Amino acid sequence: MNRSITKEELVKAQSPKPNCAHVTITKTAPLSFRALMVIYFCIVLVPYGLGLASQHVSYRGWYTELVSILSMAGFAMMLVQFFLSGRLEGVSSKTGVDNGMLLHRKVGEMLALLFLLHPLLIVLPRFWLSSSFAVDNLVLLFTEPLTSTGFYAWSLMIVWVLMAMFKDKLNMSYEGWRVSHGIGAIAIAILATDHVITIGRHGHYDEWLDWFWIALCTAAVSALVYTYFIRPRQFSKKPFKIVSCEKAGISDWYLTIEKDGDFEFEFEAGQFVWINTSGNPYDRSEHPFSIATCPTTLPRISFIIRALGDYTSNLDRLKVGQTAYLDGPHGIFTLTGRKANGIALIAGGAGVGPIMGILRQLRDMGDTRPIRLIYGNQSFDQMVLQDEIKAMSESNTMDFEQMLVLTQPPEIFKGHKGVMDRTILEKVFCTTDRNEWDYYLCGPEVMVKAVEKTMKNMEIPQHRIIFEKLGF
Ligand SMILES: Cc1cc2nc3c(=O)[nH]c(=O)nc-3n(C[C@H](O)[C@H](O)[C@H](O)COP(=O)(O)OP(=O)(O)OC[C@H]3O[C@@H](n4cnc5c(N)ncnc54)[C@H](O)[C@@H]3O)c2cc1C
Repeated sequence: MNRSITKEELVKAQSPKPNCAHVTITKTAPLSFRALMVIYFCIVLVPYGLGLASQHVSYRGWYTELVSILSMAGFAMMLVQFFLSGRLEGVSSKTGVDNGMLLHRKVGEMLALLFLLHPLLIVLPRFWLSSSFAVDNLVLLFTEPLTSTGFYAWSLMIVWVLMAMFKDKLNMSYEGWRVSHGIGAIAIAILATDHVITIGRHGHYDEWLDWFWIALCTAAVSALVYTYFIRPRQFSKKPFKIVSCEKAGISDWYLTIEKDGDFEFEFEAGQFVWINTSGNPYDRSEHPFSIATCPTTLPRISFIIRALGDYTSNLDRLKVGQTAYLDGPHGIFTLTGRKANGIALIAGGAGVGPIMGILRQLRDMGDTRPIRLIYGNQSFDQMVLQDEIKAMSESNTMDFEQMLVLTQPPEIFKGHKGVMDRTILEKVFCTTDRNEWDYYLCGPEVMVKAVEKTMKNMEIPQHRIIFEKLGF
């Protein structure tokens, strides 16, 4: 699959040739993170607005109103988290998976703070009266039976957020962590709902508002049940089977699967799926991988997978004909709905998977715009699909060039040595209209963050940068 390429091939393709033919695929583009935040905070303030509309509540002083806003918005944020799991296509097609997951993470951190402060904010004014009275009140909040569900939700929430923040440091499998994350979320949601509708003075306005919270909690828990029980049932009716799994470069696999039956499966180049090869559609051991092919190869699709951990290092155990269940496609790392003068593709390591999908799509669409690929790895023998990429750069029908970047290059290497810094980006994307190009960036989280920052420093407009991080 991979072969050594010559010095000439390595140093090829340094100067982009502008060509401004436009290709537009129409479909709504996802929201920017900023727009998403604005909409999100409007949504989580709705319950407080509903509370204000209640006939039974009059103005209770600025401090109580502030605590009410924080408590009700915090509780709504907690329940809305269930819809930002990255699995509900209706939501992630609007937010984008990365933005949705980023929001999920940031909100999780905010929730830890809001939950931690909640009892303290309630007793704080009492410190003005008497500190011993306030401390007694605080102790009461944590010990009296009436607030017990609130106390359990509060304690669990802190453990739950800490587990999420330090999941990589925990000595537990990703699957184990995900199951505990889901179960913990359900327990906290139910306990906190009980607290809000029984004692929570700051969210407890009217009976109909209680029903609103119960309905929201039910919808949130149902979203999780839908993801883990109903969707797998749907996917079990659309099985794929393993066609081949070969080594591509020293660090990656090239996995190909195909539809095992006559059913509809549509995707766009650059999207990803969750693959479950356990044989049981309900099994939680599933992994997200980006599709490295484009729809023209259906019923077959392929993936470039870096051997990193337990699952990805042992893909040679997969047997030809073995069943694979797919949850997807997901994601908005696609050409959809965008108009650009040129296409910049920037891939680090296994990030070349969705980038290859997009490149193949551009080739198969006969796209004549300039396309430039910067592809980085540590060593040259990690580079994959160089024959195919070289054929594209030699093709008369494509205006395509590749630049390789290596941190540990061989002696003969004349490409860019080091990381994807501003020097290489300026060199490859040097046309006067570069701010009218679209920049597709995919790789490990650190690399994506660093390159995105460099592109911002180069004043490439934010809306031109489309990225996918290979991790949540
Ligand atoms: C949207 C997306 C697309 C991806 N596309 C690709 C791709 O095309 N090619 C590729 O090589 N890798 C891709 N990845 C990364 C890939 O999913 C992980 O490398 C893989 O799941 C690691 O599994 P493991 O058991 O071998 O490693 P582990 O050692 O168990 O995990 C290594 C790290 O991978 C992440 N991870 C592990 N399991 C999961 C899981 N079930 N769900 C989410 N993250 C997990 C965690 O951050 C973990 O710390 C993608 C990730 C995401 C989020």
